[in-house]
Amino acid sequence: MSAVSELQRPELAAIREHMIIGGKPCAETDGERVPVYDPATGREIARQPEAGARLVDAAVKAARSAFESPAWRGLVPAARERLLLRLADLVERHGDELARLETLNNGKLLALSQGLEVGAGAQWLRYMAGWATKISGETLNVSIPFPPGVNYNAYTRPEPVGVVGAIIPWNFPLLMAIWKIAPAVAAGCTVVLKPAEETPLTAIRLAELALEAGFPPGVINVITGRGEVTGAALASHPGIDKIAFTGSTEVGKLIGRQAMDDMKRVSLELGGKSPVLILDDCDIDLAVQGAAGAIFFNQGQVCTAGSRLFVQQGIYERVVTGLADLASGMRLGSGFDPQAQIGPLVSARHRKRVLDYIDIGRQEGARMLAGGNADGRDGYFVRPTVFADAVPQARISQEEIFGPVVVAGSFSTEEEAVALANDTRFGLGASIWSNDLARVNRLVPRIQAGTVWVNTHNMLDPHMPFGGYKESGIGREHGHDVIGMYLHKKSVCIAYPATAGG
Ligand code: NAP
Ligand code: MG
Repeated sequence: MSAVSELQRPELAAIREHMIIGGKPCAETDGERVPVYDPATGREIARQPEAGARLVDAAVKAARSAFESPAWRGLVPAARERLLLRLADLVERHGDELARLETLNNGKLLALSQGLEVGAGAQWLRYMAGWATKISGETLNVSIPFPPGVNYNAYTRPEPVGVVGAIIPWNFPLLMAIWKIAPAVAAGCTVVLKPAEETPLTAIRLAELALEAGFPPGVINVITGRGEVTGAALASHPGIDKIAFTGSTEVGKLIGRQAMDDMKRVSLELGGKSPVLILDDCDIDLAVQGAAGAIFFNQGQVCTAGSRLFVQQGIYERVVTGLADLASGMRLGSGFDPQAQIGPLVSARHRKRVLDYIDIGRQEGARMLAGGNADGRDGYFVRPTVFADAVPQARISQEEIFGPVVVAGSFSTEEEAVALANDTRFGLGASIWSNDLARVNRLVPRIQAGTVWVNTHNMLDPHMPFGGYKESGIGREHGHDVIGMYLHKKSVCIAYPATAGG
């Protein structure tokens, strides 16, 4: 691409090499700047500041002072609703710039950036805007018998938990930022958000747009840097009231343990190894397409990716070869290439991790039906890979690879299907492919997962609670549940004489 046409790319003009603290750009850094790359080419596109203890402290103080300011505390709920609605409009108005910036930074297909990061992002902002005016407490009919002649009026009062430290991964950078910020501010909290070191760019633009929408300075702060530096300083900062974390189970456990030390509120959305169960009565073509979408969508970098495929004997060979054919035919390319079906992985480090797992699968003796290698070109590409006949105890069957790699096996009875599906430390998502209502109804309650899809996979909605069983996390995002995660429930109990003059 020539230098002239590069200047015309709006995503390049949208790069900000600073953080947003207290409503202002902050280009200071506590350590060496952190390089950010274009995954499709491996080229460096930005150098972000790294917030250490000093700048994290500045951001937390800005969020605290905003939380206590009349400019934020004094707003009626409808004003918070309106701010979120304005932000949704601005995200859409800047949709082209944001989607292109996301594709440049994360590598994902532009259509995904447009539809999910921007489109679903605006949808979530509007949905959460609506909750701001629907937060309520309860009147409690209490039966306190003492002292005689005294009555009580008791009720609950929801109150924002305070300053939220939000830490997010790189797979859906703008959407994840919105999933944290929108419910937090709808509930009246203020936020310090740390995006993943690989993908900070859209979150910074979002914070700028929030200022344009009229959010008071300090309500939404974005700090950048590496997890073990910036993330750790944020998670352990005593001025944070709640940590909202999305990322790997390993880091989630660290954060959870740390939060216990000073009793911070904590919610954890963690990893997965979600099963796809294909029953022999299903629509096979639909199921094969569905299994492909479940694992290859966003290059498999999805916490609910259908990375374990279990197919009923009788249709097993047909399904796995159908899936392998689809995988082999997929076109790799830059997210900006409208013909591409698979973009690059997010980073060189992550590509190495995925390729290492593919080697482990080979050594473990699984039968490789498609893919199995990087692509020759620059950028962090890995071919969509299908392993068949992996044993359930194999590492590729148990560990989260977080790439375009699916591991297939077969079952004969429903009992076996349930045992295989639940044979994992994770419990985030699962899908069942069948047209037999009785089988579906028998299976759904037995699957240990926060979301079970039937004849679809990976479909989310702001009104549908989302979260994990087992080591996939604690708490539920979206719907009414997520608002509760940003609120304290205060009980108020008022004594008054039962009779006038009493
Ligand atoms: P990760 O390594 O756990 O990182 C997640 C976030 O935590 C990043 O911002 C990271 O910063 C930060 N971090 C790392 N070490 C930290 C520490 N010691 N203290 C505080 N923060 C720290 O996960 P990832 O590789 O970015 O993302 C992939 C994982 O996220 C997968 O396991 C996936 O399943 C999970 N995920 C879950 C959901 C869900 O909703 N359940 C959704 C999406 C992804 P740096 O990036 O700077 O290291
Ligand atoms: Mg990381």
